[in-house]
Amino acid sequence: MPSFWSKACAGAFDLLFPPLCPVCRKELVDSKEKSLSLCLSCFSSLEINENFFRIPLSYQREKSGGVFILGAGTSYDSPFAAKIIHSLKYEDCFLLAKPLAELIFRHLERSGLARLIGREEFIITPIPLHRRRLIDRGYNQAELIGRELSLRTDLPVADLLLRTRPTMEQAKISDPKERIKNAKGCFSINNKSKSSPLGKKILLVDDVFTTGATMFEAAKCLYRFGARLVVGLAAAKA
Ligand SMILES: [Zn+2]
Repeated sequence: MPSFWSKACAGAFDLLFPPLCPVCRKELVDSKEKSLSLCLSCFSSLEINENFFRIPLSYQREKSGGVFILGAGTSYDSPFAAKIIHSLKYEDCFLLAKPLAELIFRHLERSGLARLIGREEFIITPIPLHRRRLIDRGYNQAELIGRELSLRTDLPVADLLLRTRPTMEQAKISDPKERIKNAKGCFSINNKSKSSPLGKKILLVDDVFTTGATMFEAAKCLYRFGARLVVGLAAAKA
């Protein structure tokens, strides 16, 4: 629990440096804006996606005919969404994981996926960065979003996956076939994780997807190691 002095110091800091909306630079005034780290006018300009994709996994060796479900909070076409994701990824604006997790959370409610997830035990797993990129960036934006989503859903987070080889950023590749090639076989199971995908239902979390090649590759890896259901969720679809 924060002490009186830490609360007083935080209050004084806010007075000296009032928190600003990173998109429009308006001062964040009410508690909802402060908890989102974004002004409500910018947040409400982001349209929440109502639909999600069901992708059959008929190529899987499992015979259950499982599906991979893929959804996104909003569209990357919105300049606000693009700005928020860019600032989280490249400008160390860690707090922006909050509105991005909120977008995913609202998408779960709006699309009806929350009913599916609410009834079952799910684990949140962020899409991992390769070790080299993690060292360069200093943090994994998908993990920050996953942890914020965990606070909203009460679901645990586990780093079930490892990225075993460096890949190019998918956003820098325009050909969908090249994206599939770039992501192919880049994931493995993280043996250091306390949990394993065997028999689990998993929410795979990332900041953005375009063709879904990275999400798909990660889902395939989790299914190969015995996951029962994988739902891929990104803050935005490009
Ligand atoms: Zn704003």
